[in-house]
Amino acid sequence: MSRIAYVAGQYLSHRQAAVHIEDRGFQFADGVYEVIAVNGGRLVDEAPHLTRLHRSLAELRIAPPIGDAALKIVIREIVRRNGVNTGIVYLQITRGAAPREHAFPKAAKPTLVVTARRSRPPDPRLGRDGIAIITIPDIRWQRCDIKSVALVANVLGKQAAREKGAYEAWQVDRAGQVTEGTSTNAWIVTGDGTVVTRAADTAILNGVTRLAILAIIRREGYRLIERAFTVDEAKAAREAFLTSATAELLPVVRIDDSPVGEGRPGPLGQKLRAAYVAHAASTG
Ligand code: PLP
Repeated sequence: MSRIAYVAGQYLSHRQAAVHIEDRGFQFADGVYEVIAVNGGRLVDEAPHLTRLHRSLAELRIAPPIGDAALKIVIREIVRRNGVNTGIVYLQITRGAAPREHAFPKAAKPTLVVTARRSRPPDPRLGRDGIAIITIPDIRWQRCDIKSVALVANVLGKQAAREKGAYEAWQVDRAGQVTEGTSTNAWIVTGDGTVVTRAADTAILNGVTRLAILAIIRREGYRLIERAFTVDEAKAAREAFLTSATAELLPVVRIDDSPVGEGRPGPLGQKLRAAYVAHAASTG
């Protein structure tokens, strides 16, 4: 089956699908995106993803190119045409194509691209055995709450992790506090069993998975504080884990060269992971 993309109003094979060389997404990373997991043919947490998309667009003053009802039809059609049962939908909106000039163009039409691809759910071994992460300075801009396509710092961070044999890099702000991973949110469980994750300030993306996990924690009555934590605190934590739409929840068992807790996935993370997997299998 050849892959089909939706590009500015048309369904095209990937071979034909293209945006203009003066598209501002290409020239300036002047655009936003979303990644929605597809689980058993259903879209996981579509509504909060669209809410966040609108927030990102509003922050960058980009007008939505089509209404939500039409967008939902396009998303479903792309999932169907690509035969995706388990995988992801990728959606990008840029300010559009215009002669290269930093200030907003007077008359550019925002570009909408929607693609989907099949992918396996995260390797169950990662959930069972846990993952290693490294820590790196957070060199990103000060509006990481916007899901902007300007991801080069995240790209460099993820590559640094890969080169050290780690799954992810946790970024650390100038005050020595962990912000988040390069494509995931960061969590720890302290010695007294409290789950800690940074509050959704402008230094992190407010993950849709983060929101789902927070709802599970509140529902189950676990102790929770939304606050920043340091690398030393994370290394001394009882448990640590990360979350995203594609990684779901993965236990972190090593930070730089230090084991977390006993160096094995902890019980609270495993409970939250199971609850999230159930949530992802049942919500639309
Ligand atoms: N933080 C960053 C920087 C991300 O890029 C992502 C996902 O792409 C996340 C956190 C997790 O967000 P979500 O749970 O919505 O996938």
